[in-house]
Amino acid sequence: MSDTDTKKPTLKKRKTALGERYLNNRGVWVFVEHEHGRVHPVSWELLGKGRQLADKLETELAAVVIGGTGAEIRAICDEAAQFGADLSYLMQDEVLLHYRSQPYTKGLSDLVEKFRPEVLLLGATTLGRDLAGAAATTLMTGLTADCTGLDIDTSDRSLLSTRPTFGGTLMATIVNVATRPQMATVRPRVFPLPERDSSRTGRIVEQPLGLAEDEVITKVIDFIPDARSDQPQLAFADFIVAGGRGLGRPENFQMLFELARVLGAEVGASRAATQANWVDHDRQVGQTGKTVRPKLYIAAGISGAIQHRVGMDSSDVIVAINTDEKATIMDFSNYALVGNAAELVPALTEAFRKRIAAARATPGAQE
Ligand code: FAD
Repeated sequence: MSDTDTKKPTLKKRKTALGERYLNNRGVWVFVEHEHGRVHPVSWELLGKGRQLADKLETELAAVVIGGTGAEIRAICDEAAQFGADLSYLMQDEVLLHYRSQPYTKGLSDLVEKFRPEVLLLGATTLGRDLAGAAATTLMTGLTADCTGLDIDTSDRSLLSTRPTFGGTLMATIVNVATRPQMATVRPRVFPLPERDSSRTGRIVEQPLGLAEDEVITKVIDFIPDARSDQPQLAFADFIVAGGRGLGRPENFQMLFELARVLGAEVGASRAATQANWVDHDRQVGQTGKTVRPKLYIAAGISGAIQHRVGMDSSDVIVAINTDEKATIMDFSNYALVGNAAELVPALTEAFRKRIAAARATPGAQE
């Protein structure tokens, strides 16, 4: 056998082939999404994470605020500073009053070309996904969508973007070695909301858009509020009771709605339950549903498949109700109740009802 035959394959160290024109790109940027003057919380969550990344890179953290000419848009820059931004890039123009891909992509791409950040993060919302894809294409750079983890490799300043792959069975860490900025989108509630520091202030760098309304091919004719805005706000709920196939039949979800009513919780579900049409698809938690971060997550009749877990394992306290003490969910729950959900859920509801009523009857008592 020759020497070559016996040689084991070796893992090559990653080659940095960063294009020369990107060598001086610096700064971590977060695109701040807002609608009618209200900022989407995912933007503050990203500023919290962005602060950590910027500190590791020993660079500045910037918010990108793009919108109409109202004072409320400029005020967003002050809020961004309080959530950790060192500065804000502000672009105001009436053409940017409502989100449209074309002017927002031009605005964001022009800012990137001029000020050359190293990292650019956006929320994986409907707007963020649209803008991120369009901007990455315009800037000819890489974008990792729906990340669940972000970190920095300080040896070559690369952004390590981790996300589920192969149907959620593996986690892949993706690195963009060749271009800048390194772009990523992250779903709401993946990262915690940072503490707000009202004493913090930041610089504002203003930049014009340079695009006239008659150059924009899409027009906003009217704004019709979403009639489904009273739908479950799972992503931001503090308490969630979720059900899965183990509930046996759709009628058993009524038990969960009753428990949710007593706790002031939202009702979630596994994909097995939503696919069986036991509850609305909006309630699905997991890789292809919502990512949640409640204080309490009660999972009844849910096995804890990885695709469900990635959407809920940042919950503060997880309570699993399952007949199978070896179910996967038991491995990552704080409390495990082994038994039939059809019996345990009503018993829990009754216990909570009594406890909450007693706490309300005792002045000064904690609920
Ligand atoms: P099962 O796995 O069937 O588990 C039922 C559990 O109930 C079992 O643990 C059982 O012991 C227990 N049980 C049975 N009877 C009772 C009882 N009487 N009382 C109490 N417990 C009982 N899943 C998601 O949830 N969210 C996603 O976003 C998601 N995305 C996916 C994306 C892809 C690409 C793929 C391939 C799959 C995805 N899935 C997702 C599906 C996931 O793999 C699982 O199939 C699903 O989560 C299982 O749902 P379940 O736990 O309700 O059902």
